[in-house]
Amino acid sequence: MAEPILSIEDLRVYYDTLLGPVRAVDGVTLEVPRGEWVSIVGESGSGKSTLAYAIMRLIPPPGRIAGGRIVFEGTDLTSLSGEEMRRVRGRRIGMVFQDPMASLDPVRRVGDQIGDVYLEHGVASDRREARRLAGEALEMVGLPASWVDRYPHQLSGGQRQRVLIAAAVALKPSLLIADEPTTALDVIVQDKIMDLIEDLKRELRMTVVLITHDIALAAERSTRIAVMYAGKLVEYGPVDAVVEDPLHPYTRGLIESAPDLWGEKRLRGIPGYPPDLRRPPSGCRFHPRCPLAVERCRSEEPRPLRLEGGRLVACHRALEGR
Ligand code: SF4
Repeated sequence: MAEPILSIEDLRVYYDTLLGPVRAVDGVTLEVPRGEWVSIVGESGSGKSTLAYAIMRLIPPPGRIAGGRIVFEGTDLTSLSGEEMRRVRGRRIGMVFQDPMASLDPVRRVGDQIGDVYLEHGVASDRREARRLAGEALEMVGLPASWVDRYPHQLSGGQRQRVLIAAAVALKPSLLIADEPTTALDVIVQDKIMDLIEDLKRELRMTVVLITHDIALAAERSTRIAVMYAGKLVEYGPVDAVVEDPLHPYTRGLIESAPDLWGEKRLRGIPGYPPDLRRPPSGCRFHPRCPLAVERCRSEEPRPLRLEGGRLVACHRALEGR
């Protein structure tokens, strides 16, 4: 495995509520090798987006990083001041958010919004230069430079997402985090946005972390897949190994819920719902939904097992019969 650009060590992110802390990310350890495309998959409430926001140190209150480290290019981001972290965001780590309309200011021209990135980081000395650079950033994502004068409502959903990607990669960061960037888009536009991210990854030599609920999309684009369930990392490994030979019953469930992977109807789905993270199930958090659960699963939490080939799985029964 290539040298990691990002090492997450025993990360815990909790949301304090009157009924006790919601353990949205609970002891996640994960290494992202430089130059790769790592997709983090799971259902809503699995903690995957919280993990992305924690890397950017953008967890809104009452959320907090309750423990662990996020080491990016040798620096523990959890130890940085707000000002130091502001310099990392945008310049060294870019982020694309889920909903482009919510992320763009509807009453400002897109050129000014992209231009903010250059001004904030001192790359442009005035608004005029910032707008010129914003035009170049728009061209980088396949839009005309003259569109700096457009407002978000004059663009389609896919074009707005391109504008956000332009802002995220404007300063050529080494890591791009994309949180469900195509959820609001139709399938054809979704594909084009993914192609764009792939092209930019190559051109700018970036590492990509994609957050998605869609394991078929992750399988198509990634070099590695990390599967999260109820705040825990349950499986991680090279994409072919995880998709062709999943070790965790939850990963198998996700794959069997994704018809696109084989182009045939194998839809089975996962019975039940993700748990309430204020009171997660004892032992393995997946046990109430797991077809393989045994008594031990109810009482003992499975520890992550590191296996050959850079694989990791957290399940008492993952290696049975192997
Ligand atoms: S530890 Fe037990 S309940 Fe959890 S995934 Fe494995 S078999 Fe299922």
